[in-house]
Amino acid sequence: MNYENLTSADLDFLISVVGKEYVSTRDADLDQHSKDESFHQAVRPSVVVWTQSAAEISAVLKYANDHHIPVTPWGAGTSLEGNPIPIFGGIVLDTSRMDKVIQLRADDFQIDVQPGLRYKEMNATLAKQGLFFPPDPGANASIGGMIANNAAGTRTLRYGTTKDNVLRLEVVLPSGEIIRTGTRAKKTSSGFDLVHLFIGSEGTLGIITEATLRLSPLPEKFSAAITSFSTTEAATQVVTNIIGSGIVPAALEFLDTATVRAISATGEFALGENPTLLMEFHSATDVALKEELNQVEIMCRDGGCLNFEAGLGRDERDRLWRARHRAYDILVRSRPGVAYLIVDVAVPISEYSRLVSAAQAALAEQGLQGYLVGHAGDGNLHPLVPYTPGDTASYTTAWAADEKIVEAAIAMGGTATGEHGVGIGKRRFMPLEHGASLNAMRAIKATFDPNGILNPGKIFESD
Ligand SMILES: Cc1cc2nc3c(=O)[nH]c(=O)nc-3n(C[C@H](O)[C@H](O)[C@H](O)COP(=O)(O)OP(=O)(O)OC[C@H]3O[C@@H](n4cnc5c(N)ncnc54)[C@H](O)[C@@H]3O)c2cc1C
Repeated sequence: MNYENLTSADLDFLISVVGKEYVSTRDADLDQHSKDESFHQAVRPSVVVWTQSAAEISAVLKYANDHHIPVTPWGAGTSLEGNPIPIFGGIVLDTSRMDKVIQLRADDFQIDVQPGLRYKEMNATLAKQGLFFPPDPGANASIGGMIANNAAGTRTLRYGTTKDNVLRLEVVLPSGEIIRTGTRAKKTSSGFDLVHLFIGSEGTLGIITEATLRLSPLPEKFSAAITSFSTTEAATQVVTNIIGSGIVPAALEFLDTATVRAISATGEFALGENPTLLMEFHSATDVALKEELNQVEIMCRDGGCLNFEAGLGRDERDRLWRARHRAYDILVRSRPGVAYLIVDVAVPISEYSRLVSAAQAALAEQGLQGYLVGHAGDGNLHPLVPYTPGDTASYTTAWAADEKIVEAAIAMGGTATGEHGVGIGKRRFMPLEHGASLNAMRAIKATFDPNGILNPGKIFESD
């Protein structure tokens, strides 16, 4: 693709739309918007623009479309696949000023928000009303970024991904047209489902300027449980058994021995040194909660668990989930000078055990000491593949392990990305995963964005 370089006339136009203080070509701002949290190479945009409304975004996109200037939307920059890196330069459109709650309708369990709102701040506000938005990526992502990547997290098993919790969107198309799609009704059969087309499209089809989200009541009763096993196979088999029993934990997370050892070594959390499952259960009554925990304990003991601790109180439960959410930071700090490529694959639950074995084999084949953590209840695994920043050979080795793991997941009927999106890192697997249907995706991209200005170079490799 050929794009125009930005001229001073272009900058003048942007200033006329959003104001001088919200257009920046300063080094610090360009650097800050050149890289997400992945290992992909930083690329600076020519300019960063902070918009405040759909009307401003519409004006910027119409101009960029007419002048063939690439535009990459930016939420919080916490992606793990290079999704918001402006690899063709141009304009980065930062939505962080659009961070308002537009309307909360507690009786309908719905909230209308702007895309730059961070989900942790939103949930802190909602907690006062006894409500929450369940998808919970580890980082404090923006709602727009979560929708664009179809983010998920530890609670997906019970509450679904972002995709399952968005009802309605306002989107600005590359032409500058502003459209609204979806409904506030719980269900609809009305026409093509554009809401779910935009969700997971990584800012390549349009820029989300407003979203109606589905909320859930904060659970009345909850309890956490922790159990460990002498082998990974035993742990993952129990995951399959629990899901197969029809019990739906709010979370069911797997940590391999190396990960629990690193967490335990901090002295803050004592998790032992064996493959471990962390679980959480939500219920309306104590009786129902106790019954679920009893059944799960029986399954764990039948499966040969070494220990089973349940009925943890709020403090202990919060500490447990802090340990899980901080696992990545702990692993980074435990090996100074080492960074991690966070692989993100998902398979049908019956294949989870084989996926874990395939990931272990791929790491061993490259002589790498990695870590395995995952949202096991969803069949989602995140192998953490170590590399040394700046060392090209170590990138090649990490990339080779990543490739083996992803190909194994796809061969098991799974996917190259359970929740982080395609971005740059997973483009090369799209033909293998989607075959001819990739052509239909390209046709959709060409329909919405015929000039290819929106987040170019993502999802499709040949761009
Ligand atoms: C420590 C850590 C843990 C993580 N754990 C998880 C996890 O458990 N689950 C998970 O799913 N993810 C996880 N992530 C990844 C990341 O937080 C998610 O992908 C998140 O959705 C990114 O949101 P963001 O606001 O940072 O978006 P950004 O990174 O800024 O952007 C993401 C994509 O959305 C596009 N975009 C942004 N705003 C808009 C908009 N308004 N309209 C259209 N497109 C837009 C961008 O162009 C880009 O393609 C983790 C990241 C880190 C660093």
